[in-house]
Amino acid sequence: MEKKIQIDNIKTWGLGYEEKPVLMAGPCSAETEEQVLETAKDLSQRGVKIFRAGIWKPRTRPNSFEGVGSKGLAWLKTVRQEMGMLTTTEVANVKHVYECLKAGVDILWIGARSSANPFAMQEIAEALKGVDIPVFVKNPINPDVELWIGAIERLHQAGIRKIGAIHRGFSSFDQSLYRNTPQWQIPIELKRRIPTMPMICDPSHIGGKRDLLLSISQKAMDLDFDGLMIESHRQPDEAWSDAKQQITPEKLSHLIGQLVMRDAQPAGVSLTTLEELRFNIDRYDKELMEIFEKRMKESQAIGRYKKENKMTILQAGRWDEVLQKSIILGEKHQLSALFVERVFKAIHQESINKQNAILNG
Ligand code: PEP
Ligand code: MN
Repeated sequence: MEKKIQIDNIKTWGLGYEEKPVLMAGPCSAETEEQVLETAKDLSQRGVKIFRAGIWKPRTRPNSFEGVGSKGLAWLKTVRQEMGMLTTTEVANVKHVYECLKAGVDILWIGARSSANPFAMQEIAEALKGVDIPVFVKNPINPDVELWIGAIERLHQAGIRKIGAIHRGFSSFDQSLYRNTPQWQIPIELKRRIPTMPMICDPSHIGGKRDLLLSISQKAMDLDFDGLMIESHRQPDEAWSDAKQQITPEKLSHLIGQLVMRDAQPAGVSLTTLEELRFNIDRYDKELMEIFEKRMKESQAIGRYKKENKMTILQAGRWDEVLQKSIILGEKHQLSALFVERVFKAIHQESINKQNAILNG
């Protein structure tokens, strides 16, 4: 656990966050003054308190729309004055930070490409020294929890105490289902390491398409996230960036209404049944460990045999046979092929490590 990181309770940040989910919504990009104001007005009338809009857009390929730049900051100011909303935008360098502070942007967020870059993070953090502003840090594009924590630590070292994390998924070659695969175990690990960290999920960039927004948002709520950042545009199909994943303010409020909210520790609910069930889980986990130990002892015996007979650790045919057999057996026990494959790859790796220690250790 990262004990040194102190984060102010998000309910004291002045975000108007009383109950879950705290919601940040608005277009991927600010495009025109009219689009910004109309979208913000609609969102505000539906109870959204925090308006997001990208002013400087990090685009994967050149010659795409790269944001309206500084002039959009004046539009955010109008949103704050006319709608009374808090405003937030992405900062990727020192210039962005200074311009946002000058324009009175209420909340900053760091994009996924910047949190992956320690040089950029250090510069941004230094530009924020002595400033008391909430800063949300999106996960780096690559699934590296240390890099995410490092970005947070740099801000913390600069004295920022209102830091939140935004989970927006991770880049991968296979984009068949998700635009950015969620890999939920990474935000879960971040929260384990920094338990006071406010957690926001960005289902828009994880899903990359409208149809997935509800299920991803529900999952985040069930994992006890504090809130959501969702892209919303008055005419999503006409959006200048990320059109496929944006929804109208009306669809957004419908989506929020559909979410089932559950509590981690509901008041007045007896935890005895839960404790009994957990007792069984803990017992089975212990049994699993004992079985793993026995299995590894056999691997080590095989390792000694291979050493004596100058055999390689890996015989590809044998490993494939183990994996295929396990997947078929797993099916009979209602275990998904993906789960069995992951577990057995981990077992196999541990087994190789143990045998390697015998052959070369
Ligand atoms: C965005 O929020 O529009 C954005 C560019 O996000 P990310 O940094 O997560 O790609
Ligand atoms: Mn976007």
